[in-house]
Amino acid sequence: ETQVETLEFQAEARQLLQLMVHSIYSNKDVFLRELVSNASDALDRLRLAAYLDKDLEVDTSDLHIDLAVDKAARVLTVRDNGIGMSREDVVRLIGTIAKSGTAEFLKKLKESKEAKDTVASDLIGQFGVGFYSSFMVADKVTLLTRHAGEATGTRWESSGEGTYTIETVEDAPQGTAVMLHLKDEDAEDHLFDYTAEWKVKELVRRYADFITWPIRMAAERTDAEGETTTEVETVNSMKALWARAKDEATEAEYHEFYKHVSHDWQDPLETIRMQAEGTFEYQALLFIPSHAPMDLFMREHKRGVQLYVKRVFIMEDCEALMPEYLRFVKGVVDAQDLSLNVSREILQQDRQIQLMRRRLVKKVLSTVKTMMADRPEDYGTFWKEFGAVVKEGLLDDTDNRGTILEISSFDSTNDGEKVTTLREYVERMKDGQEHIYFATGRTRSLIENSPHMEAFKAKGFEVLVLTDPIDEMWVDAVGEFDGKRFQSIAKGEVDLDSEDEKKGDEPEREQQKEEFSGLLAWLGTALEENVKEVRLSTRLTTSPACLVGDTNDMTPALEKMYRAMGQ
Ligand code: ADP
Ligand code: MG
Repeated sequence: ETQVETLEFQAEARQLLQLMVHSIYSNKDVFLRELVSNASDALDRLRLAAYLDKDLEVDTSDLHIDLAVDKAARVLTVRDNGIGMSREDVVRLIGTIAKSGTAEFLKKLKESKEAKDTVASDLIGQFGVGFYSSFMVADKVTLLTRHAGEATGTRWESSGEGTYTIETVEDAPQGTAVMLHLKDEDAEDHLFDYTAEWKVKELVRRYADFITWPIRMAAERTDAEGETTTEVETVNSMKALWARAKDEATEAEYHEFYKHVSHDWQDPLETIRMQAEGTFEYQALLFIPSHAPMDLFMREHKRGVQLYVKRVFIMEDCEALMPEYLRFVKGVVDAQDLSLNVSREILQQDRQIQLMRRRLVKKVLSTVKTMMADRPEDYGTFWKEFGAVVKEGLLDDTDNRGTILEISSFDSTNDGEKVTTLREYVERMKDGQEHIYFATGRTRSLIENSPHMEAFKAKGFEVLVLTDPIDEMWVDAVGEFDGKRFQSIAKGEVDLDSEDEKKGDEPEREQQKEEFSGLLAWLGTALEENVKEVRLSTRLTTSPACLVGDTNDMTPALEKMYRAMGQ
């Protein structure tokens, strides 16, 4: 006796579904990409599970994806015989959205509500909504699934309007079937005819040709005698994209593959291919996204490189392959000479893996360098999206510090609109200027209006304007660029005058010191509790006074950061 339960979607899920049901996203075709991508992941996971657990009772002899069309009923089914989901999985994975950044995404969406639908549509494109995209084309979705090794299955159904039903069923085949009851309003529209064989095939070829599992579709054929037979055809070419020769894959295919591995809905900024032969053979297909994910700075953010061994998916989020400061890089590394049950611990210690990682990192950095030279606009996007993360590498990756400095850009007082590289800064340095001056602070305007800036403005010395929290840390660690020391404008005695100017000023300075000695002594006593020393300043032009740190002191922002960390 089974019982149908009606449950509510979590609030965030409900809001997202609302957008899908009313199809605010213009490119509805992508629903098939999402479903096939999920099916492919499920097959990957089953193959691995069966390999690791010999007691798991599953048939893995014919893993594949099936597409079936029922024209009369207007139902499109995407079925896989992969890992499947337990009842709890369905409630957790389909009824809620665990994706970090969802709250922020919905907030942005709300803010853009007054704006045009295109803004919301763009946002959805950036966020990606996975399984929920089914509701762009279907007014009812039925999901039938059974987890590998479990006796009973689960049937889930929803029209995307706030609630879903769920029941335990006895006779579900292993794996997952998603049945889309296609919207009647699209019935007349040739472009949205997802019951047409040509349409479905075209979408598979466009979005999923590289999927390494067979995607099959049954098609009816009528012969000359008028006899109808059903033929099953594999629609995709199944060739692993990373193993193909360069001219055997198009940019569009790379982009679709990127969307599959990254769950992003936008094209990447850059595709990076590597094929290494010899004693340790591997292929890598990596991507630099065109926008940062919402959770880039959240603790649980995962790295985006998957490890395959001889075409077999092994693990997601392989931290042994990419350092944290390149955590935005997505893609696949396929190594030929590893064991299929290699663990994260073994990977971390494996010398070959470390070598490979070093080469991957160098390749990513050199790719950015080339982009900087050849496609400044794309580089600008890259830096805007990922610069703050890349700069973490200045601390973490001392081997590549030089390259990272070369590919870094900074705001500066030279130009309010354009960032500068350190190389360009050095080229603009004035005669007699020895150091690279920088100022750190929360915002550009706070920095520009700080009294510390006055003397630099007066002298016409350029100052780097550093507003990322990480800036405080790396400037100290890095120390210099091209033999020029990084010097904070807020620390120590700043000496901007050349030797000649100083000689001229000396008598005057001495006289001032004498003149103000009483005031300085009095201020020193009055502020004893708060400051180390009161001295006459040469750095101010209009402000009467300013606070400076000792050369070796922490800057206020850094102090705040340590305090926030509880130190
Ligand atoms: P994402 O794929 O980005 O995680 P989705 O909304 O596409 O987000 O899917 C949510 C989750 O539901 C997946 O992570 C997966 O755990 C589960 N899921 C979806 N489709 C399948 C399927 N065909 N087989 C097994 N699990 C699935
Ligand atoms: Mg998905």
